[in-house]
Amino acid sequence: MKNQGKLIAIAGCMFSGKNRLAHNLVQNFKEQGLTSCFFKASCDQRGGKNIIIRGLGQVSATIIDDRNPEQILSHAQNEVIVIDEGQFFNQKIIGVLEELRKRGKIVVVIGLDTNFKGEPFHPMPEIIAIADERFFPQMARCAVCGQVASRTQKLNLDGTPAGHNSPLIDSGGEHSGDRYEPRCRSCYQPPQ
Ligand SMILES: [Zn+2]
Repeated sequence: MKNQGKLIAIAGCMFSGKNRLAHNLVQNFKEQGLTSCFFKASCDQRGGKNIIIRGLGQVSATIIDDRNPEQILSHAQNEVIVIDEGQFFNQKIIGVLEELRKRGKIVVVIGLDTNFKGEPFHPMPEIIAIADERFFPQMARCAVCGQVASRTQKLNLDGTPAGHNSPLIDSGGEHSGDRYEPRCRSCYQPPQ
């Protein structure tokens, strides 16, 4: 019987433990003799480059142009395909994920389910909708009060909340320093 593919979605706010959970899944698959390869969406259009994803066991990932997620198909040689920053891709990623699943791949997509405005961060909601397994880790703690955090607060450099017109995607992302922090619903300040 052909190996049955499946799609696993791991979603949440920043620092919620998504990558750590993905790392544990990858380790489990490895113990079953399944190898993984890693991809990361990039909006800076320097596609094809390899980078290191922290929190995923320092693995090397291939950067994929967010507008051309079908590039993943020609690189997906391993049994397990891990895709980080799923929210950055355009809607074409849905067809790519379905094709990978059809090919019998185990596909793990990691991404932010909401943006800093508290709105759905497309296409993650669509990816969650078609997933076979869904995980929503809750390890982020509110940077203000320490309660469980479910929101991503974007901050200006002076520490005030970023406005409604602030860009959704910064090239630096969560590695650009202290411009994002997890917050609970009470401490989260919607952008004005
Ligand atoms: Zn709080």
